[in-house]
Amino acid sequence: MTESESTPVRSTGPRQVRPRTEGWTQKLDADGKPLLQFAAPKKGMPPVHLADLTPDERVAKVKELGMPGFRAAQLEKHYFQHYTSDPAHMTDLPASGRDELAAGMLPHLLTEVRRLETDRGDTIKFLWKLHDGALVESVLMRYTGRITLCVSSQAGCGMNCPFCATGQAGLTRNMSAAEIVEQVVRANRLIAEGGLGDPRRVGHEDERVTNIVFMGMGEPLANYNRVMQAVRTMVDKKHGLGMSARGITVSTVGLVPAINKLAAEDIPVTFALSLHAPDDLLRDEMIPINSRWKVDEALDAARGYFEKTGRRVSIEYALIKDMNDHAWRADLLADKLNARGRGWVHVNPIPLNPTPGSVWTASEVPVQNEFVRRLNEAGIPTTLRDTRGKEIDGACGQLVATEEDQAVAAGVPTD
Ligand code: SF4
Repeated sequence: MTESESTPVRSTGPRQVRPRTEGWTQKLDADGKPLLQFAAPKKGMPPVHLADLTPDERVAKVKELGMPGFRAAQLEKHYFQHYTSDPAHMTDLPASGRDELAAGMLPHLLTEVRRLETDRGDTIKFLWKLHDGALVESVLMRYTGRITLCVSSQAGCGMNCPFCATGQAGLTRNMSAAEIVEQVVRANRLIAEGGLGDPRRVGHEDERVTNIVFMGMGEPLANYNRVMQAVRTMVDKKHGLGMSARGITVSTVGLVPAINKLAAEDIPVTFALSLHAPDDLLRDEMIPINSRWKVDEALDAARGYFEKTGRRVSIEYALIKDMNDHAWRADLLADKLNARGRGWVHVNPIPLNPTPGSVWTASEVPVQNEFVRRLNEAGIPTTLRDTRGKEIDGACGQLVATEEDQAVAAGVPTD
């Protein structure tokens, strides 16, 4: 590391590593600021699927396909309870027209390209190809008493965070609600088949995904309507997956108007703000959306979410060595959270996956512990989170980048 990459805040102050990209060039706008892309290209959206539709729309579409409306409920059962789109398994449907009905209501959405397993099979990362060739990921994790799936909500991302491989490729397109739900259905199918962990050690027949985190590829609140349709389908007990809303975490880097909109929905999902820095000077560089909505605005919106829903908010904070892990930043974060009241927030610091020699390197353990201690001492419940799947998940979007590199090296087009 050169001197210019690591400049002290004050001549006698703690070391301050500044964020910068490594291995890619960040796209900049005409003013030299990181480019933010909110509007998604329309092209490439998949065919309409049952999970894109409301229950009434499903009935109407089944009728359009020449079948009585009650067939919609049978398809819902096959898809959301038996995790199948294969007409061969739908023997309660008349053989005549069954294939056409399944093709019209449950078109193929995700093709598995690669699967990586770690933690003795308790963590599985999927790389999916969408119908237009775009690549996305999901990660399935078994914990004691719960099974969590980290889902993608966009192909690529327009938020351009300098540490994130996904952000550098820009936004390819929004994912449809059904493409989001299908990640859960495919994970449930794998679990039902005994594919998560050693079946002799864990698992029983009716196990399924209990928790969803929208922390895969994409900024969920930039694809608001489709993400909310997916969430409604996940929680719908009669016409969907019947999951608990509390087990679903919607995270954002801070799209304030969308946070306010989410707070007004009548679905008590868990809300997480990926803050990563309590001061605008650093956050402007780490999270370019901060140039639109500042730390205080994002925290006000997060507090507003708590007030409207009564749901405690999570603050996500990746601890990065000498960049954002200073004791004074822990104190500043505690002050800003306490200034907005008590008991409304929980902080989850996560040591960044270590990349030796990079400016984006995990904080040292004593520094992590001190950061957590200061927040807890200030009355902010704070829990250091583990980085599950470390061996296979260097950074968000890394698997896609690797796949594309290999495809390019092999002369295979990736679009
Ligand atoms: S960190 Fe998240 S919001 Fe930022 S570019 Fe990556 S996927 Fe987008």
